[in-house]
Amino acid sequence: MRDGQRCAKQCAAEWRWVWWVRLQRVWWGARAAQGRAAAARSSAAAAAARAAAAERRARAAERAREVEDSPQVLREKCRQLARAVRDAKHLVVYTGAGISTAADIPDYRGPHGVWTRLQRGETVGRVEVSHARPTLTHMALSALWARGALKFVVSQNCDGLHVRAGLPRRALAELHGDMFCERCARCGRVLMRAFDTTERTRRHAHATRRLCPACGHELRDSIVHFGERGRAAWPLNWAGALRHAAAADVVLCLGSSLKVLRRYPHLWQMQRAPHARPALYIVNLQWTPKDAAAALKINARCDAVMAAVARRLRLRVPRYAARRDPLLAHAVPLAPAERHTARAPSLPPPDLSDSDDERCYSLGEPSASSASSDSDPDPDDELPLRRLADRLRAPPPPPPSPPDMPNHFKAFQVRQV
Ligand SMILES: [Zn+2]
Repeated sequence: MRDGQRCAKQCAAEWRWVWWVRLQRVWWGARAAQGRAAAARSSAAAAAARAAAAERRARAAERAREVEDSPQVLREKCRQLARAVRDAKHLVVYTGAGISTAADIPDYRGPHGVWTRLQRGETVGRVEVSHARPTLTHMALSALWARGALKFVVSQNCDGLHVRAGLPRRALAELHGDMFCERCARCGRVLMRAFDTTERTRRHAHATRRLCPACGHELRDSIVHFGERGRAAWPLNWAGALRHAAAADVVLCLGSSLKVLRRYPHLWQMQRAPHARPALYIVNLQWTPKDAAAALKINARCDAVMAAVARRLRLRVPRYAARRDPLLAHAVPLAPAERHTARAPSLPPPDLSDSDDERCYSLGEPSASSASSDSDPDPDDELPLRRLADRLRAPPPPPPSPPDMPNHFKAFQVRQV
């Protein structure tokens, strides 16, 4: 009896042990399954993050890639752009570093641009831009302004080439300053110099070591660096830029990634409904954040596009001539006591005896270029600009409104709700 009870107790203890072991196995199995599921989830999340990062890199590389339209596509797009320039009532142009690459000035975000090289960890030496000359695009814009077809230029460039191409300051906003301009911080006087005024200046240190000839206060360069807010009236001319942006019906962006300009919503009239904003035309080799909103995007170099547009508009584009350079004509020379403040030599004065300065770019005949590449008729090959006198003439008065109805008829008018 005692043996039987002992045996029953022993059996019960063994069964409890067996069940406890089984429960432990189940519990540990569940824990392991949870761990494997968590590991799978984390590895899936890591894989998704890696895929998203790779997608971002691929998209950034795709957007940084320079793409050129085929000659046939470029011809058709230039025709559309020429038509838009001809029909524009208030054309405003936004320019970036891409219009100066033909003058051997590196652009900013291109494959060999300053920003791109800094991102790759490469060093960028001092870029000598003071000896650059205005390009065909600079000269074409000045010619368009002289014909009354262009009202205003907003530039992000500091190279001063728009002024040197003959564009007056009242038709220009240099949002990031002008390397040839220094200004008095007290009286606001602006002095043009025939040398690089940024030679000894840097971010948050803009004094050029020269003094204002009018009030004796220190002169500063006009450059607006990253992280700085430009407040000078000239040469930045924000007031003119905003006034003309509000009046524009066509905006043409030349050689800019627009990654800085897009941050200024009033330049794009973003406060208006999309259909009430100016028509946007973009010429750039790379993607821009405004491509989706553009009426036309041209992937080509600015000089090629402006040459084609000028040819269709029958616009004479003069070549740059030093004797007509406003900078060389109006630059204030250094006083003897200031000569130690500038190390780089000044731009040489123009040779006034040079009589070969009336040359224009040879743009050719539009019909000849189109006939060689395509036999289709091209009725819009020539889109001559209207004469300046026609543009300046006041618009015709609106048609007379119908006479007022007698008072006793007004009572029967149906009011529109
Ligand atoms: Zn002053």
